[in-house]
Amino acid sequence: MEIDQKNNGVSAATTATQPLWLLAEITYQCPLQCAFCYNPTDFDKHTQNELDTESWIKVLRQARDLGAAQLGISGGEPLLRKDIEEIVIEASSLGYYSNLITSGAGMNEKRIDALKDGGLDHIQLSMHDITEEINNFITNTKTFKLKQKVAAMIKDRGYPMVLNVVMHRYNIDHIQEILEMAEGLGADYIELANTQYYGWSLVNRDQLMPKKEQVENALKVTNKFRERPGNKMKIFFVVPDYFEDRPKKCMNGWGEVFMIVTANGDVLPCHSARVIPNLEFPNVNDSPLKGAWYDSPAFNKFRGDDWMQEPCRSCSEKENDLGGCRCQALLLTGNAEGADPVCSKSPDRHIIDQAIKDSQNPGVEAKPIIFRTNANSKKIDKGDEKDRLAKFHATP
Ligand code: SF4
Ligand code: SF4
Repeated sequence: MEIDQKNNGVSAATTATQPLWLLAEITYQCPLQCAFCYNPTDFDKHTQNELDTESWIKVLRQARDLGAAQLGISGGEPLLRKDIEEIVIEASSLGYYSNLITSGAGMNEKRIDALKDGGLDHIQLSMHDITEEINNFITNTKTFKLKQKVAAMIKDRGYPMVLNVVMHRYNIDHIQEILEMAEGLGADYIELANTQYYGWSLVNRDQLMPKKEQVENALKVTNKFRERPGNKMKIFFVVPDYFEDRPKKCMNGWGEVFMIVTANGDVLPCHSARVIPNLEFPNVNDSPLKGAWYDSPAFNKFRGDDWMQEPCRSCSEKENDLGGCRCQALLLTGNAEGADPVCSKSPDRHIIDQAIKDSQNPGVEAKPIIFRTNANSKKIDKGDEKDRLAKFHATP
């Protein structure tokens, strides 16, 4: 009875498929302070109670037994942990395809060799701009040269060169030059990821959101670049969903493919799921991953379509997007069961239109960005930014 109340009365279902991806958010510590970081704003609470090496190895084994084949090692900055090499060796022996998602901080010649020898398959490096000025501004750190150095190390060790660039108002007009830089570094693949608004990027949404014309122009430049004769680089352009009229099929469906284990061992179907009230997420310290995936009320809550309300319930497009993102619906409308407000059929679409309008207000630029620092995390957790966050229905 008690569990049912905590989980909105949801009981276990048996329709879940197996997880294919395990994303290990191995630490929330990070020397960078990106304005758009998707980590939860209360990350500072979870920097003292991180899982130890033995627990991570147990997580890797259990997820592999469930069928997970892809492993993302992420953070924070995973290289701040001294045991990544050990974790990579275990992942390799279990047969995972492993991907280190890094800002480059903490990488050096010795470590990249050890990771290669340990069987790491793939490294994804984040880049921010062609200018040192914007790189250092948006990360609030002097990391421009470091990234160029790490890119060269990755290339030198024969890894596929995979770059990720988060796009926002400050760098989106440099897209041609960013693509040229990536080509110059020998990138095989570049992801131009327009900011999605969760965590710190939601706090800074007004300051980060580009104009619609900027996004349209960026897409045009990208398409032209793709068509250049001799272009071998794969370019993936993630359209910002605020400028679309249908939402994304978030995480390919809640509890369908992705399993995320956070630094402190919480097991989540998506990065932001903890913003949804009255859901109790399992923790690896208390329950094995099998029970978390198949039987926990939190993982079963948004599987299938029984939970849907109108207009999604009777919508002919519901298979395409499963009603969009539950966290975005909760954060912006207060109703996690409602349609994602990005959808033009949602009665709440005006919230997105207003956010776009607000971000075009010249007065907004004068307001400071709140960078992702431990001090700011503590402040937000204490409620010091209440006015700024008042328009959201939970702290992102
Ligand atoms: S987005 Fe920036 S601050 Fe956040 S984890 Fe990545 S590198 Fe660190
Ligand atoms: S109404 Fe719901 S299911 Fe239909 S397109 Fe919009 S978000 Fe998707």
